[in-house]
Amino acid sequence: MPTATATTTEAGPTSVLLDFTTFFNIIDGQKMTTEATRHSTNPSTLEANPEVPVSTEADVDCAVQAARTAFGTWRNVHHAQRRAALEAYADALGANLEGFATMLTREQGRPLALTRMEVATTVERLKQTAALELKDEVVADDKASRGQTVLKRFTPIGVACGIVPWNFPVGLAALKLSSAVITGNTFIMKPSPFTPCANLKMVELAQQFFPPGVVQCLSGDDRLGPWLTEHPGIDKVSFTGSVATGKRVMESCSRTLKRVTLELGGNDAAIVFPDVDDVAKTAATLAQSCFFNTGQICISIKRVYVHADIYDAFRAAFVATASALPYGDGFNGADADGKTAPFMGPLTTELQYRHVQTLLADVRDTKLDVVGGDATLNSATDTAAAGKGFFVRPVVVDNPPDTARVVVEEAFGPIVPLLKWSDEADVLRRANDTRLGLGASVWSGDLRHAGEVARQLEAGNVWVNTHMMSHPSAPFGGHKWSGLGAEGGIEGLKQYCNVQALYLAN
Ligand code: NAD
Repeated sequence: MPTATATTTEAGPTSVLLDFTTFFNIIDGQKMTTEATRHSTNPSTLEANPEVPVSTEADVDCAVQAARTAFGTWRNVHHAQRRAALEAYADALGANLEGFATMLTREQGRPLALTRMEVATTVERLKQTAALELKDEVVADDKASRGQTVLKRFTPIGVACGIVPWNFPVGLAALKLSSAVITGNTFIMKPSPFTPCANLKMVELAQQFFPPGVVQCLSGDDRLGPWLTEHPGIDKVSFTGSVATGKRVMESCSRTLKRVTLELGGNDAAIVFPDVDDVAKTAATLAQSCFFNTGQICISIKRVYVHADIYDAFRAAFVATASALPYGDGFNGADADGKTAPFMGPLTTELQYRHVQTLLADVRDTKLDVVGGDATLNSATDTAAAGKGFFVRPVVVDNPPDTARVVVEEAFGPIVPLLKWSDEADVLRRANDTRLGLGASVWSGDLRHAGEVARQLEAGNVWVNTHMMSHPSAPFGGHKWSGLGAEGGIEGLKQYCNVQALYLAN
């Protein structure tokens, strides 16, 4: 059953309009069904999304076999040809932007304008990754004295598997896919069971541009991830998700000595100095950053340390912004009454919703001060206003103790503590006092000093006067329990390669 219409010219497919109603595993270039199917849930309406495959162990074996066969050829394809395939794929993704964004809003919940942003950014990132190349490097040229040249080379590892979370399914999957195939690996994608549809379609689309077996996708239930990490035919796993699962993935991969990249959780601190240019503006910027994607971003600001001299003014502006952020079903547009389209959708999964409710219950039970939103469960009024989905309005907790659960744990939801500080060394200690180390930022009018403070933060991504920014040339990874290795940029490509020393003697 065809699910794509393509106009083909001598240069290859020029427009590929995908149908987003039926979803298949993609194995060895073919759309494959499975006996059992399942579906995810639209988190705004709690309606069922389309049925998707539930892969069996036999499906995993077939995909791994096809990936191994395809690797034999793909590893020797010239970089220029791989790059052209990835760029054409990126264009086709862009041509389907509306379809992917709509699907993402249905399964992830984020407002349509913001899922469009994810797809558009992904198109750019695919092209930027396609343009990267790991060339041979001459590390010694001793021809004259010892008669030898030594090269450092980066060779593809083999069959790579990308395990994807639900918070930015398209962008995160594309980074893994592009880094794997541009370096000559073949790739099997495993979507989150909460957001399988957009990922399955991405790989269906990829068949227009890559030979069979180079890019495949398997969707399934909770058994699928362990089948992949245990499989002896897979050589590399790139995992993005929680710390707890990351540890299980590493343990499982160790049995077959797979190469592993782990992109895990974060508990990012922002340290706000009293000399910021504009306290109210800085507070508003931070509030928007905290609640973007309903707080479900690994590098969301999750702890805001504000200097005592500006604490009250900062808190007032932060709460005013947070309380005014429109929320609701991501398909709602601006209406006739001038109500704006939502900035925040629901939490994406019921599991996440329950986790946030547990943290809110702890806020209530420990009698912490709440200055924005309220810590009640999803109230009837909220539910009526926003639909019957997993909605939680922003909650701002006023200067809780450092030991509070909302400070120590990654909320991954719209609940943020503001914390007061007055001693620089002490606030640095508090910001670093966590096993996590994904991101952190410093906000100040004194760039030189802020840079010095930033250098003392224990995190893989550190910003001054901004947060959550990422650049295609920069490696993205976590320190401490936030991860192992990095994705993005040349460092990201190296994660999909073995390093080889090649000695050429005269
Ligand atoms: P999760 O760990 O529950 O799941 C991630 C993926 O792993 C899913 O595809 C899931 O099906 C799969 N999985 C589950 N158990 C597995 C197992 N035993 N073996 C193999 N795979 C398994 O994470 P999530 O809830 O989807 O994502 C939220 C978490 O991800 C948060 O902690 C967030 O901070 C983190 N995250 C990190 C980054 C980053 O780049 N560092 C980016 C996005 C999200």
